[in-house]
Amino acid sequence: MKEFEIPFNKPFISGKELYYIANSVMKGHISGNGFYTKKCEEYLRVLTQCNKILMTNSCTAALEMACILIDLKPGDEVIMPSFTFVSTANAVVLRGAVPVFCDINPKTFNLDENKLKDCLTDKTRAVIAVHYAGQSCEMKVISDFAKNNGLYVIEDAAQSVGAYYHDQHSGTIGDIGCFSFHETKNIMCGEGGALLINNPKFSERAEVLREKGTNREAFFRNEVELYTWIDKGSSYLPSELQMAFLYAQLENIDQVITKRQKAVEYYLLHLKSLDEQGLITLPKYLQHNKINYHLFSILCNTPKQRVELIEFLKNRNISALFHYIPLHSSPAGLKYARTGVLPLNETDFVSERLLRLPVYFDITVEEQDYVISSLLEFFDR
Ligand SMILES: *Cc1c(COP(=O)(O)O)cnc(C)c1O
Repeated sequence: MKEFEIPFNKPFISGKELYYIANSVMKGHISGNGFYTKKCEEYLRVLTQCNKILMTNSCTAALEMACILIDLKPGDEVIMPSFTFVSTANAVVLRGAVPVFCDINPKTFNLDENKLKDCLTDKTRAVIAVHYAGQSCEMKVISDFAKNNGLYVIEDAAQSVGAYYHDQHSGTIGDIGCFSFHETKNIMCGEGGALLINNPKFSERAEVLREKGTNREAFFRNEVELYTWIDKGSSYLPSELQMAFLYAQLENIDQVITKRQKAVEYYLLHLKSLDEQGLITLPKYLQHNKINYHLFSILCNTPKQRVELIEFLKNRNISALFHYIPLHSSPAGLKYARTGVLPLNETDFVSERLLRLPVYFDITVEEQDYVISSLLEFFDR
């Protein structure tokens, strides 16, 4: 049998990245907000139909900006899943506010919209909806809940570039959306992100925030005479080098998603028998969600089985990974969040059983066959 070594992820490279970077150097402008920053913002504007997009250093930066824009204050509460990346909660904690964890739906791994009401107090200011694996949360229900209770909605759409809820692009439904272009995402530039301003009242301030609290952008548009410090802010602007790299990726987003779709559908087809025998559970994608195939996960029946399976695959040079340690059980989560009040049974259930299999742009059928036959063999022992 052929020897395989299958990493969990291999970043996609289009081939034009270095050419665009060289071009940005030749233009003599490699700090932020130049030619390629504008190109990326315009590309995303057309893709998402969101009129105000600001490129950022990371999704973490975009989430921090979102929490400043909605004016979170110490003691305010923000509802979010515990089953998410730390940045969702950090952005809130950095403002002195308190994450309140809502349980997830064990089928979609997203916020259980029916449990939001249990998390509501008179201190609640916002909901952060995290779209896991590019599958959207139930945004209609979440938006109605927020509207009825005077809350803002922030979408952590870090994993959702190219994914849709009905016909709306992920990240364009709440007041503010956040994208990631970290190396582990479908489309990337090493470190990078974007802020989507859907509620126009935040547009002007978002520009100022990103430019260290100055009116630099308005100044360069000749809208103001003096370039000066007018509000709080930080350095959230990516360099042109990152944006040149990213533009070479964005141009290929359709191709990337199509290739990943093929890989995920191949797994779904060939692992179906294990699901039918009740040995694993395959992911369910809701009809109205158009996913972007960011990752492929299975649910093992028991935590013990997952440990054994990871080991079994590792011995065959296949890297399969578990995912989030729930934030409510992490040291910082225990310190900064409101925990221990609401049950998070589904979050615990999923986080102990979920296993992600390798999916990347140029994964071959032979590599997938090797992963699949290894899985079948594990359950056939
Ligand atoms: C990747 C990710 C982030 C962080 O993105 P960065 O660009 O690395 O800051 C935040 N939230 C979720 C859900 C993510 O998957």
